[in-house]
Amino acid sequence: MIDLKEQTRLSLARPFQLLIDGRWTDVESGEALDVVNPADGGIIARIPAGGGADIDRAVIAARRAFESGPWPSMIPGERSRMLWRIADLIEARKEEFAELETLDNGKPIMMSTWVDVPASVAALRYWAGWCTKIAGETRAVDLPGEFLAMTLREPVGVVGLITPWNFPLMSAVSKLGPALAAGCTIILKPAEQTSLTALRLGEVILEAGVPPGVVNIVTGLGAVAGAALAEHGDVDKISFTGSTAVGKSLIGAARGNLKRLTLELGGKSPTIILPDADLKRAIPAAANSIFLNSGQICVAGSRLYVARERFDEVMEGLVKAAAKFRLGPGLDPATTMGPLVSDTQRRRVMDHIDSARGEGASIITGGNRVGDQGYFVDPTIICNVTPQMRVAREEIFGPVLVATPVDDPDELAALANDTEYGLSASIWTRDISAAYRLARKIRAGTITINTGSVAGPNLPFGGFKQSGWGRENGADGIESFTELKTVVTAL
Ligand code: NAP
Repeated sequence: MIDLKEQTRLSLARPFQLLIDGRWTDVESGEALDVVNPADGGIIARIPAGGGADIDRAVIAARRAFESGPWPSMIPGERSRMLWRIADLIEARKEEFAELETLDNGKPIMMSTWVDVPASVAALRYWAGWCTKIAGETRAVDLPGEFLAMTLREPVGVVGLITPWNFPLMSAVSKLGPALAAGCTIILKPAEQTSLTALRLGEVILEAGVPPGVVNIVTGLGAVAGAALAEHGDVDKISFTGSTAVGKSLIGAARGNLKRLTLELGGKSPTIILPDADLKRAIPAAANSIFLNSGQICVAGSRLYVARERFDEVMEGLVKAAAKFRLGPGLDPATTMGPLVSDTQRRRVMDHIDSARGEGASIITGGNRVGDQGYFVDPTIICNVTPQMRVAREEIFGPVLVATPVDDPDELAALANDTEYGLSASIWTRDISAAYRLARKIRAGTITINTGSVAGPNLPFGGFKQSGWGRENGADGIESFTELKTVVTAL
């Protein structure tokens, strides 16, 4: 087990407050939430339980910063330098951010250190580059006379960013980056289970010189602080990442002022292994796709379809791969699979596994809680599943793979599409034409061929069907934080 760095211990010892209008401030109600270490159930900190009054204060500050503050009209290069500075400051405190993320979420320290923190830094630098590249177009006017017509891309206004707990810092940054680059002002509501890195990010944002009111951070319960933000009549847009159920509830909340909505929601993504696939690569990738981050990844390959002639070989390889995961507290550098984020999540995952048992499926490996401290569930593979079973239909968000042999390759697209979700899919074959044909037929936002998940700030990301509305990342991501205005001049 690593010893926490001095900086992390100091960071945990300081009180956590809300960031509103450039100042750290107490929550109006005086209420707080316990922050639980998922590796042992112990309480590591307390964070403010923000409510409607705090959201009101944050929205007033963000509105003032948008209407009369320097941020939206600041020269783009200056905004860019501040985003770059935020990235530099996170990098300078990378060990503290990684340790806080692991303590809070439970993920292996290797993952926080080599994925979450550097990817967040890289994403901020990517978004810094966009500040100087947001542009409109000139358009032809098909009327008598002489005109100059153009479009302008303007910031959408005050935006509410609501994020989940599986990649806390990365989720916050992937929304803050484009919102800041576009010139918006922000209220961030991180997940109640994992708010620590978002709060420390607030310190870095102030240190970077971002003006007061541009970024406000209100922690608290989703049903209280999140709902107040989503319903607020002076918020112009909500960008939400989380479950499909909560995403749907935001549609009603947005109705009052018709605020814009981007929804990044759940998934039940297929991994497809064709008979000619290179199994040396496909098996470890399929295992990582469902077991990394304890399966708490929206694009996790949670349904596996394998050509029947290779099914036994693939299962044997996957069981071996599952056995190699070393479960333990995330702060132990030898850990490759941490606990689930909370006791609620552990119960939800075990309930799915138990339902599969009850419905007659076969658990070929795993299927158990591990230890009686912390929220560990071992890597689980389930076979003999029918398409109607809950484990085959519902997002589990845990280390649980449902595997099915397939006789007829022509059925694959229909099997892959037999879900209400459409976030991603992965195809393994040496026949690239077959892969492309299948990729065209699968209704999902991201398709990978002969690789596991590949994501980054320049690759559009989002879902078909009930996996969401809109796209994050790249030009599409930045445009979602803008409004398009047409300006026509008669010459
Ligand atoms: P969740 O329960 O929907 O929560 C997501 C966020 O919404 C949290 O900050 C939560 O606050 C807040 N929230 C809850 N109820 C709310 C309400 N009524 N109004 C406004 N906000 C509310 O999801 P989760 O369990 O944290 O995350 C797991 C889900 O996220 C999975 O379905 C996963 O697939 C999805 N996800 C999707 C993507 C993607 O990009 N498509 C990426 C990652 C995760 P509290 O936590 O404080 O309650």
